[in-house]
Amino acid sequence: MSVDRDQSWFECFGGCDGRWPLTKVIYRCPQCEGLLTVQHDKAHWKQTSAAGWKARFLDRAHATEWPYGSGVWGKRELVCPVVDDENVVSMYEGNTNLFWAKRLGDQLGLQDLWLKLCGNTHTGSFKDLGMTVLVSVVNQMRCDGQNIPAVACASTGDTSAALAAYAAYAEIPAIVLLPKDKVSIAQLVQPIANGAITISLETDFDGCMEIVQEISEKDGIYLANSMNSLRIEGQKTVGMEIVQQFDWEVPDWIIMPGGNLGNVSALGKGLLEFYELGLIDKLPRIVCAQAERANPLYRSYQSDFENFEPMEAGTTIANAIQIGNPVSYERAIAILKRFDGIVEEATEQEIADAVAEADRTGLFNCPHTGVALVALRKLLARGEIGTQERVVVISTAHGLKFTDFKVKYHQGLLEGITSTFSNKEIVLSANYTKVRDEIFHQIEERFEAS
Ligand SMILES: *Cc1c(COP(=O)(O)O)cnc(C)c1O
Ligand SMILES: [Zn+2]
Repeated sequence: MSVDRDQSWFECFGGCDGRWPLTKVIYRCPQCEGLLTVQHDKAHWKQTSAAGWKARFLDRAHATEWPYGSGVWGKRELVCPVVDDENVVSMYEGNTNLFWAKRLGDQLGLQDLWLKLCGNTHTGSFKDLGMTVLVSVVNQMRCDGQNIPAVACASTGDTSAALAAYAAYAEIPAIVLLPKDKVSIAQLVQPIANGAITISLETDFDGCMEIVQEISEKDGIYLANSMNSLRIEGQKTVGMEIVQQFDWEVPDWIIMPGGNLGNVSALGKGLLEFYELGLIDKLPRIVCAQAERANPLYRSYQSDFENFEPMEAGTTIANAIQIGNPVSYERAIAILKRFDGIVEEATEQEIADAVAEADRTGLFNCPHTGVALVALRKLLARGEIGTQERVVVISTAHGLKFTDFKVKYHQGLLEGITSTFSNKEIVLSANYTKVRDEIFHQIEERFEAS
């Protein structure tokens, strides 16, 4: 595909004057220091009808024609038209399954509950959606002859996994800064396996973020955190994909966990663009769910977003959202206001039990998805979400990244948490009678009681 570098640009999110090409190294507005956003030539988009866009997107879904089989690059004109085909760095991310969680919905008294499994993608979290765009643009810049020696990010575990994989694919050096002992073993081993320079710092995520910003400012290493708006462009396809999977019908509610708040901003941006193009005729309500120990947005919501105070995040089992100073809070607040949004919070006990209870219905949740499920329960209990409404919960990562948490839960070893739904491994000697007796005892206890 021929690319037009003038169709998309960076501009100030706060509205200051100025436009910069997506291939320029710039993260903040030179005038107000605020975040940037990617803007597109909407008049150009509108030369194609809504029906035309729909047909094109359906046609490309699961195609093998490079690079359209990716859920992100299938919507390339709306996401990032500035990368040549041969410079796209994609591992066919996105196009993840959206399925009817019937049994869990029945338990909650909700008929129309759906889960969007964003963890079923290359590195096991939605971070792939944004990273394919960012690394592709970096690849394009390097191929154009710009001097970008490496890419770097601070991470709570999933951003680093995605950056390491995409950078490795494109042969770009990657550096990841992780808060020491605060990411899961699976998350730690991902960048290590992909050959990234993996550095653990004696601090939390917010501390890692400060260092990586300094390195990107002073040393010319390209910053891959979601402060960089290119990430948002890829991540915004999640809502677009959801409505496409529902034949362009819009659910009543979309619930997702929030930490640095890039993803909730991205979800809203994508849906607003679909709305503007006439692909959808209404907007869902959005719920952002936070861990009680890292809940600056929830606190701000209590004052109708009048003020926003960063905090020091406490330790939470939802480690990917253990963030006290979220970079995208302004973007997120704007989106939540536009989507009549709600912010909820979840305690450690609530998160752990929500994960385990939902896992019993055949899911395999990460703790962050658990935070979203707690929010769903609370909004149902308060009657804010009606039992007939269609609800989509965004599952942000694959549960297999968090087996250490799950094992400890079922063994009753999570500190300060009662394992209400634990299922313990039963160890027996290899003796037919013992095994048979135990099986029938267990069936009676678990399924025939009541
Ligand atoms: C990054 C992440 C989040 C939070 O997304 P933000 O954009 O930081 O709000 C939630 N869940 C998982 C699994 C993540 O990796
Ligand atoms: Zn500005």
